[in-house]
Amino acid sequence: MDMMAIKAILAGISLPVMLIDRDYQVFQANPAMRDVLGCNPEGMNAVALLRQAPVLAVMDNAIRDGQSGQARFVLPGLSGEVTYTFRAAPLQLDVAPHTGAVLSFEDSGQLEEAETIRRDFVANISHEVRTPLTGILGFIETLRTSAKDDPAARDRFLAIMEQEAQRMSRMVSDLLSLSRVESDERVRPRELVNLNGVIRSVGATLEGKLKDADVTLDIRGASDDMIIQGDRDQLIQLYLNLIENAIKYGGSGKMIRIALSEIDHDPTLRCPAIRADVIDEGEGIDPLHLPRLTERFYRIDDHRSREMGGTGLGLAIVKHIINRHRGRLKITSEQGVGSTFSVICPR
Ligand code: ADP
Repeated sequence: MDMMAIKAILAGISLPVMLIDRDYQVFQANPAMRDVLGCNPEGMNAVALLRQAPVLAVMDNAIRDGQSGQARFVLPGLSGEVTYTFRAAPLQLDVAPHTGAVLSFEDSGQLEEAETIRRDFVANISHEVRTPLTGILGFIETLRTSAKDDPAARDRFLAIMEQEAQRMSRMVSDLLSLSRVESDERVRPRELVNLNGVIRSVGATLEGKLKDADVTLDIRGASDDMIIQGDRDQLIQLYLNLIENAIKYGGSGKMIRIALSEIDHDPTLRCPAIRADVIDEGEGIDPLHLPRLTERFYRIDDHRSREMGGTGLGLAIVKHIINRHRGRLKITSEQGVGSTFSVICPR
């Protein structure tokens, strides 16, 4: 194989790769490698270029002893340090310089970050599930012993156990929805959906809950030509979550208003849009919490959310559905007055 062919193969690899000869001189570097270093290293000395002891030792091993190895390589970047897994493997060619080593760099920072997110998520779920389970186990124990012959206590405990089991079951459904929405977030929906129809059908679904909570739903500005490119089921879920929250945190005897409007040009989305505000008359949200509300399992008041049967996942689902629709969510709130969750989607 000639050097042009080697160059072409390296150019097709997205991992930063360079080849060095026995004197540590770089004789090939692919475009990804040049991007990482910010220059073309061909002709330069790899020892002078890399300068980190563990990396130099691995490189030495590949060239002197013909052994592959890896080490951490840290590069100061524009937005903090970037950590790479550096690998060196011995190289034998049938063209000059004949022998040397292949050096590659894999951005392990991104992997580490994904791993941290995954670990936190597993820890969160375990905690979320353990709390109700511990409660249920405690009640079972009581029912077997002290409350054995107490019918009133038995009914009360069974009701709590049922509530907790139902919340866990909702949590599993929410986790499944979340993972489904996340997995198709990159694929923009193609259906044309009438938002007015979506909101009316959510209103009808929630009729019982609204009545129980003594809350009135007032829908304004809706018209049948409010059509967006969307996924009908997901849009229904989105408004269900927002309106259910408005019922839960808005307080009984209050009003929930939904205001729909058309926007000629949304400055952030840079296109015409449709905006739907879900406005409640609850106690409002401290601005301190606003940026974190859509994180999974983030709740302002853990106890209150659990008591209301909340899973802490509703707004995370909302955020992902909006992302899939290439829209944006704006939350504003005034303490003592209420909160407004605005969904703005491209028309
Ligand atoms: P939850 O199941 O706890 O309701 P969500 O993800 O739907 O989970 O909401 C996260 C948190 O945001 C809630 O626990 C609550 O503290 C806060 N929140 C959501 N909607 C409202 C609202 N309309 N008014 C006040 N606080 C809200």
